[in-house]
Amino acid sequence: MEKTATPTFKHIGSKLLNWYQKNARDLPFRQTKDPYKIWICEIVFQQTRINQGLNHYNNFIKRFPDVKTLAEAEENEVLLYWKGLGYYSRAINIHRAAQQIMNDYHGTFPHEYEEILKLKGVGKYTAAAVSSICFDGKIPAVDGNFYRVLSRIFADDFDISNSRAFNYFSELAHLILPDNVGDFNQAMMDLGSEICKPKNPLCGECPLHEDCLAFSLNKISEFPVKTKKVKAEDLSLKYYFVHRNGKFLIQQRKDDFIWKKLFEFPPVISDELISFIKSVKTVNHKLTHKNLSIEIFNVEVDSEDIWKDFIAENNFIVTDVEGSHERSFPKPLENYIQNYDTAYRIL
Ligand code: SF4
Repeated sequence: MEKTATPTFKHIGSKLLNWYQKNARDLPFRQTKDPYKIWICEIVFQQTRINQGLNHYNNFIKRFPDVKTLAEAEENEVLLYWKGLGYYSRAINIHRAAQQIMNDYHGTFPHEYEEILKLKGVGKYTAAAVSSICFDGKIPAVDGNFYRVLSRIFADDFDISNSRAFNYFSELAHLILPDNVGDFNQAMMDLGSEICKPKNPLCGECPLHEDCLAFSLNKISEFPVKTKKVKAEDLSLKYYFVHRNGKFLIQQRKDDFIWKKLFEFPPVISDELISFIKSVKTVNHKLTHKNLSIEIFNVEVDSEDIWKDFIAENNFIVTDVEGSHERSFPKPLENYIQNYDTAYRIL
């Protein structure tokens, strides 16, 4: 009896690699195999577009060029260099992970996927990317780009919001995986962001269009399939911008809720200060799963005694606009400070 051959799709991975060799984007982190730099770049660009994050990445690497420098830095300085990138927990985690590398790996970046995965804040995607790009690891760095490209190539309706999607698409990726997994992972990143985009993919320029089932069936808009939408939670916050003669009060957030370790205005004030409230501004701000409505009260304190008592009782930090540039604030509060004019009034 004639035996049916298992279908092979390795030629898809080879085509992608050929395309990448001619079309790879010229990005600064493509010139290096230094795992420290690749790791930082993977974390920086997780939630940030390349164009928006490039200056931040370059500044960060300039100030913290290696694991040791980063591990020895003050956490607040690391947060300051993360300013503008958002998701500050990433900065806190990379700082801790750098200390982990110094303490547990004698300052040498771990080579194995499983070891890289043990670093604080490093998930399967980042571990696969670093191990494949820097140490010839063989694990696909599966992310949203993989979900989109693979579901279209195979016209596969597996729901990407399913908790098993990561494992499912990892297995699918293995069907087309070439030997050079490092370049393949980077090629998928470029293809997903430049060609096989979420909306209006450029199929005419795609190196895989002859192999793409969704393209040949004219069903691209049907893939990937995603059923579950995470509903954003509405949240109200209050802050008091307590100021006097150009100085204002701040504190550092300690809880594990949003904006951990960033600086903020006092969230409550004493009864004596209520009479100094001059105005209130409501700011709406979106986080990944939260819609924030933030009321910021402008409290201009006319009494030196009440000002001093309030500071002493609550251990607030007194700063001014210039001093605030040395610290990281949540974006809505940073915007508010920028509007605090030179005559010490709120615009
Ligand atoms: S042909 Fe179109 S849909 Fe298919 S992989 Fe290429 S860009 Fe994506």
